[in-house]
Parts: sequence; C-alpha cells; structure tokens
Amino acid sequence: MRSILQSEKRVCFLCRVLHGDDHEQPTHCHHVMYGIADRKLSEQYGLKVYLCPKHHEFSEEAVHRNKDINLMLRKAAQVVFITKNGNEKWKRLFNRNFLDDEELAIRADNAFEAVGALTKPKEAGAFEITDDPIGADMPF
Ligand SMILES: [Zn+2]
Ligand SMILES: [Zn+2]
Repeated sequence: MRSILQSEKRVCFLCRVLHGDDHEQPTHCHHVMYGIADRKLSEQYGLKVYLCPKHHEFSEEAVHRNKDINLMLRKAAQVVFITKNGNEKWKRLFNRNFLDDEELAIRADNAFEAVGALTKPKEAGAFEITDDPIGADMPF
C-alpha cells in the first residue's frame, strides 16, 4: 500500500522536518513499525516514510540509531493512523501506545502535519537529538 504518512517519495522526511530541507534526492523506504510482524502491518496500512541514507541508518539523526527520532516517527504514524482508522484499531493491531492523552486528541492527514502538531507546545528546537544508540542488530 502507498504511504499514508508522506506522498513525495524523493523528499527525505527527516531532512524536511529537522532541517527544512525538501530537495529531491535518493531515499529509502522506512517502515515506521518494524520487526517481523509489525513491518507487514506497516506495509499493509501504509505506515512508511522516505528517508535519505543518512537519516535512515548512517548518522546520529538516523531513525535506526536515534531513539528520540524513532519515537517521533512512531507518534506521528499513530496520529495519522488513528485519524484514518481510529485508536481502537491501532491498539488491536500494534498493542502499543506512543501518545499521551493530549496527543491522542491530535488529528492529522499526513506525518508532516502530525509532527507539527506534536511539537507545537514545546520550544522551537523541537526535538532534542541524542546519540543514544538503539542497537545495531534491529531488523530494518
Ligand atoms: Zn535526510
Ligand atoms: Zn528502516
């Protein structure tokens, strides 16, 4: 299924969100919920974003290396998913919750909107980047 999070396949989601850079470039498709079962669900429900190699795997801002960025993408995915399908279905499929009560009220049609809404109350710096590694052996 096509992504419900992002329509432009050649724009890196994180270049745009973190750096305001939306130039076209080669990207990888990242399944926001990954692991054997969750990856299939990400495919089925379109929980995919497009990332440059740096933001996919190869820098401290890479989703597979940075817990905060991984969580940001999962929060955004949950917001867009529940906007379309409802939170009961999210809970049933993924059995995990990434949103607090306030965040559960957010509705957004794509992940850019979702990230904007999720970060609005916080200061302008948005996400604190840490280089806390997730573990190199996670299945992509
Ligand atoms: Zn990027
Ligand atoms: Zn990935």
